[in-house]
Amino acid sequence: MTITFKSSLAALALCALANLPQAAFADQSASKTSLDALVAGNNRYMTGQSSIPRIDPQRREQTATEGQFPIATILGCSDARVPPEIIFDQKFGKLFVIRVAGNVTGTSEIASAEYGVHYLKTPLVVVLGHSACGAVKATAENAELKGKLPKLISLIQPAVDEARKNPKESDKTNFVEECVEQNVRYQMKKLLEGSDLISDAKKNDSVKVVGAIRDIRTGKVRWLD
Ligand SMILES: [Zn+2]
Repeated sequence: MTITFKSSLAALALCALANLPQAAFADQSASKTSLDALVAGNNRYMTGQSSIPRIDPQRREQTATEGQFPIATILGCSDARVPPEIIFDQKFGKLFVIRVAGNVTGTSEIASAEYGVHYLKTPLVVVLGHSACGAVKATAENAELKGKLPKLISLIQPAVDEARKNPKESDKTNFVEECVEQNVRYQMKKLLEGSDLISDAKKNDSVKVVGAIRDIRTGKVRWLD
């Protein structure tokens, strides 16, 4: 089992090395270029002017033979209404996407983001929350959940607790939306605290970590300060 796991990791690393993108020498300008591309793509999507075909056999063939060169790592929610490639209007192979309910940062998610940053050299990481997030709502409402879901909720709970601490914020009519924002900020913090690879890359300006929230009604992505 150990050998298989190590072999898999080695294969992943070799894949990455064989396909090192130019972004291997990423700097702040590379982060900005990626962010600009996502902002522009979201604007196209919002206004019904998406330019990327959903079915693109040539592009699929290209990525199969040439490898992946993503411009950003996205940690987003599993919610079916927020597929990153569509809301940012990006082609196959342009986004390294991690999706999990509540866009939480468990070990697997952090490790996946490390792969995106360290091996694929994406100069940008986006923690992407969204309005009306069911996982955040369940946490905010102390919902009784079955199976393993309470474990997942425990990863969101500190963000909800933080939202509750501030009476001014908690007075907002929509407490869930405040929790969604706090959760994005909290998961960004946990990602950096939980990964030396990513926090070191941030320190030397080879990656920028940003938070964003997608409004599921308008499609607009709001970038957090
Ligand atoms: Zn969600």
